[in-house]
Amino acid sequence: MDQLLRNFFLFLSNNRTLTKLAKSYGFKFGAGRFVAGETIEQASTKIKQMNEDGFAVTVDHLGEFINNEAEAKAAVEECIHAINVFAEEGLDAELSLKLTSIGLDISQELVMNNMRFILNAAKKLGLIVTIDMEDFSRAEQTLQIFKELRSEYKNVGTVLQAYLYRVEADIEDLNAYDPYLRLVKGAYKESEQVAFPNKQDVDENYRRIIKQNLLQGNYTAIATHDEAIIDFVKKCEKEFRIPREQFEFQMLYGIRIDLQNELIAAGYKVRVYVPYGKDWFGYNMRRLAERPANVMFVLRGIIKQ
Ligand code: FAD
Repeated sequence: MDQLLRNFFLFLSNNRTLTKLAKSYGFKFGAGRFVAGETIEQASTKIKQMNEDGFAVTVDHLGEFINNEAEAKAAVEECIHAINVFAEEGLDAELSLKLTSIGLDISQELVMNNMRFILNAAKKLGLIVTIDMEDFSRAEQTLQIFKELRSEYKNVGTVLQAYLYRVEADIEDLNAYDPYLRLVKGAYKESEQVAFPNKQDVDENYRRIIKQNLLQGNYTAIATHDEAIIDFVKKCEKEFRIPREQFEFQMLYGIRIDLQNELIAAGYKVRVYVPYGKDWFGYNMRRLAERPANVMFVLRGIIKQ
């Protein structure tokens, strides 16, 4: 049943018509459970509180399926606006973004120019910009772009997904770029040709690449809510004497806040991924797919309208 629901929500997350409808309909249906607001000004009030509680954050202006230059330009301007708000408000915040939101599906030249524009603005404030990893069809191009940018900028990072068969080879390959990597299990619907279909295999591969990247000496953001994986990282820390400056935990806004607080209390660095914006539909459907029980929050949201 869970698998059926998972596929259903992943199918919805990929639906362009529903994405557009949700965007024009507004911030409804329990969207606020996983999204910090429609504007960076709304989100920044919450970020300030999180900073006071000891959390760093990475902020994502939501946007998917952008296929015209004007929308891509507007997304870039929003990123610059967010960076300026971080500076004005003195927030401990970095930026995360999806390349499709700034023109990946339009042209390579456009997305490279847009990334350089954002990276230059972020560099002035010493901020890292992490390129989220989207579905498999865009993985190779995303990694090529990351490699090209990484040879020009120290403040760019990216994400690798443990469910992909290719991920170990990617970790090995990226080692030459002194990479800043966020490691995740992976959130998209992929075929068995390219990704492990079984959760157990994904978890095992996740452990393998965490260890591999830590032992290669690279900064590693372990982005998970899985307590068994977090325990594994703590075990690696002890066994291989990994300094705490070499890694951080990351979790999504609104998910496992108890665990986030526990890690802060134990002295670990924790960064919360804080999404904001009107384009919340695909993001929220992926959160439902990860845990169909979340549908109750959405139903409660609908009832409250
Ligand atoms: P799971 O095995 O899925 O979950 C472990 C436990 O965590 C569950 O039992 C439950 O208690 C809790 N949990 C997990 N998800 C939820 C949820 N939605 N609601 C409530 N509880 C939940 N994926 C990408 O493909 N590309 C990216 O760029 C990307 N960036 C990410 C950035 C961050 C900071 C994080 C935390 C995740 C990101 N992801 C990304 C999503 C990731 O791939 C997983 O889909 C997601 O983290 C769920 O997997 P898990 O590691 O928490 O483990």
